[in-house]
Amino acid sequence: MEARHKIDFLINDSRLDPELRRIAEKVVAGERITFDEGVLLYEKGELSYLGVLANYIREKRHGDITYFNRNFHIEPTNVCVYDCKFCSYSRMIKQREEGWEMDVDAMIDIVKKYDDEPVTEVHITGGVVPKQNLEFYADFFRKCKAHRPELHIKALTPVEYYYIFKKAKLSHFDGMKYLKEAGLDSMPGGGAEIFHPEIREQIAHDKCTAEQWLDIHEQAHLLGMNTNATMLYGHIEKFWHRVDHMERLRQLQDKTGGFQTFIPLKFRNKENQMSDVDEVSVIEDLRNYAVARIYMDNFPHIKAYWAMISRDTAQMSLSFGVDDIDGTLDDTTKIYSMAGAEEQTPAMSTQQLVELIKNVGRHPIERDTLYHVVTDYKDHVFDDESAKKKNYYALPVLNS
Ligand code: SF4
Repeated sequence: MEARHKIDFLINDSRLDPELRRIAEKVVAGERITFDEGVLLYEKGELSYLGVLANYIREKRHGDITYFNRNFHIEPTNVCVYDCKFCSYSRMIKQREEGWEMDVDAMIDIVKKYDDEPVTEVHITGGVVPKQNLEFYADFFRKCKAHRPELHIKALTPVEYYYIFKKAKLSHFDGMKYLKEAGLDSMPGGGAEIFHPEIREQIAHDKCTAEQWLDIHEQAHLLGMNTNATMLYGHIEKFWHRVDHMERLRQLQDKTGGFQTFIPLKFRNKENQMSDVDEVSVIEDLRNYAVARIYMDNFPHIKAYWAMISRDTAQMSLSFGVDDIDGTLDDTTKIYSMAGAEEQTPAMSTQQLVELIKNVGRHPIERDTLYHVVTDYKDHVFDDESAKKKNYYALPVLNS
């Protein structure tokens, strides 16, 4: 059944709650839903209802297209001056012996490992340490661009930048401008967690505030850079905190238009200070992707990190609003595995990623960081693929 027919069927179902029907009608009309309606979706929206709405928006925007990219990560350090309660990754300064701190040469050596690989992006993030300051990163960005000018540098978050710019006594705008001139191309979405102080104070009390996070993104947008945004969900926050978080992002996006992608991140409870907090179910993951797709009407893309939520859930998410499942990774990140993600050595070949997408009837496109098409894999046949049995399967909720 077409996405439009499914939503019409839903609207005409007399058993549907009138408030939910009104939201479905707004979605069809392309109207923005309100804060209260966002909360209502979380409180009353069943998985199948949310899936129909989110999939309608996803297919209206992108059809069956599902994006991925070929990238690798550099994590310059896992030592951190901050103490986020949910963090399974960082080692405090006093636990230095369990941590690593790279110098610029070590980071360039990692870049050189990919000299013969068709990667388009290096994604850099990690902890916050005094030595990795403004000049450290400016030096790395310059050397990286000198070595491989076309490699897109997507680096650090406002958590690092706020610390670095404060130490360097630079405004957010001047700091971002300096690093842009050194070679920085864009910013990933991390460090956002949950913006509302009621929750932020409890889980990330000592790092940048919501206002500082948003301001650094705003300055990057003013400088012509694109950025992403995340939300850490499924811990001690209430539904309305999630909507508050998305509302702040939606407002900034109305102002600047500089965000590309919204990435909900699932809280994992392995070996951190919140290990007593249960993780939410896969059903809640899918509901959350769907509400994000419905609420974030001015964000072009919704991304699921396959390495964080498992390959199966990533496949299902493609029917709940997600149109991007991140990159090949090549086992270059420890952030997900140390937090207890299903993928302990996250790496997929391009062929595996393409098959994962095709197996749920979607259309794989390799993109660069700015969503330019690198390769369209719709009709691409890999050398050893032609002999294989086609194993398309229908998703239970939406593809029947
Ligand atoms: S989440 Fe980031 S800022 Fe917080 S402790 Fe971990 S590495 Fe440091």
